[in-house]
Amino acid sequence: MVIVMTATAAEADLQAVVQHVQAAGGSAFVSRGVTRTIVGVVGDEDVLESVDVGLLSGVAEVVRITAPYKLVSRENHQRTTTVSVRGVPIGPDTFTLIAGPCAVESAEQTLAAAQQARRAGATLLRGGAYKPRTSPYAFQGLGVAGLRILADVRAETGLPVVTEIVDAADIDVVCEYADMLQVGTRNMQNFALLQAVGSAGRPVMLKRGLTATYEEWLMAAEYVAQRGNLDIVLCERGVRSFEPAVRNMLDVSAVPMMHALSHLPVVVDPSHAAGRRDLVLPLARAAMAAGADGVMVDVHPQPERALCDGAQALTGGLLDELTVAVATIPSLLGRRGAVTADPVTAAGSVR
Ligand code: PEP
Ligand code: MN
Repeated sequence: MVIVMTATAAEADLQAVVQHVQAAGGSAFVSRGVTRTIVGVVGDEDVLESVDVGLLSGVAEVVRITAPYKLVSRENHQRTTTVSVRGVPIGPDTFTLIAGPCAVESAEQTLAAAQQARRAGATLLRGGAYKPRTSPYAFQGLGVAGLRILADVRAETGLPVVTEIVDAADIDVVCEYADMLQVGTRNMQNFALLQAVGSAGRPVMLKRGLTATYEEWLMAAEYVAQRGNLDIVLCERGVRSFEPAVRNMLDVSAVPMMHALSHLPVVVDPSHAAGRRDLVLPLARAAMAAGADGVMVDVHPQPERALCDGAQALTGGLLDELTVAVATIPSLLGRRGAVTADPVTAAGSVR
């Protein structure tokens, strides 16, 4: 059971709710989020249900949920959530293209990639300043210098920025520059990081772990939600399989399954699934046909010179083909213009 307090609930109201739960033999876990306070309740559901907490002052809603993930479950919200990233929607009515370089390498490269992304119809820019690399000898990202480049490119192009955070200790500096925090595959079960982004007041892109089940993925999302942040987008990016020809195996079933189990929007990253650019477009089309709320792709002005994941970066003609797919397939499923409203109202400002 989850008790959601009203925005105006007083501390005394909250304490009365906690005492009520404890008197009924339950345990109450209070999460003070940026916008709301939530009380998670654990205990004998039958006993707890006999206590009418909903009548107490300051209680907005009492949600009884059978799934182990509570706040992110479909039972909690019938309608799929629309997450707004500086005014750019990711949700059930639209289709959002997110594109950019795997890693921020330089100001010139990032600006060129952002311009490619915009031309292709992207309304959000992706780019890693902190890179979680398998090898400690591989390019690790530019760190704060990379974040500054992303902010400059946002000012130049108007594209809000999605960027990865790999360490909870970086939360303040990443939030200073990012519009959306990405938690990558390798950190999907970094619970301290999930809690930190849950308290950060920024939308979160939560990528599926390399071998994560749907339940594990949603429990990870629950860690973020439990801190009061329900602005979470799930990102399917392929899972480990026995087939070496592709980097990961894209699980298209994850799109309808996540929509069935959760109210959170779902995007697909075909680039990190495929690991090779010739497969990115067919996988992106499959994601659109399966009902994804968006796709996130790697682009690079000179993939052969990329410091990270050049083999999967789209460029030139392939990007033009992606633009055609984005402009046609989602609309067949009733989504508003694939290339949703251009977020730029003036240089550097975003509505
Ligand atoms: C990325 O999107 O840059 C990335 C590292 O992806 P993943 O976490 O899915 O491997
Ligand atoms: Mn990458």
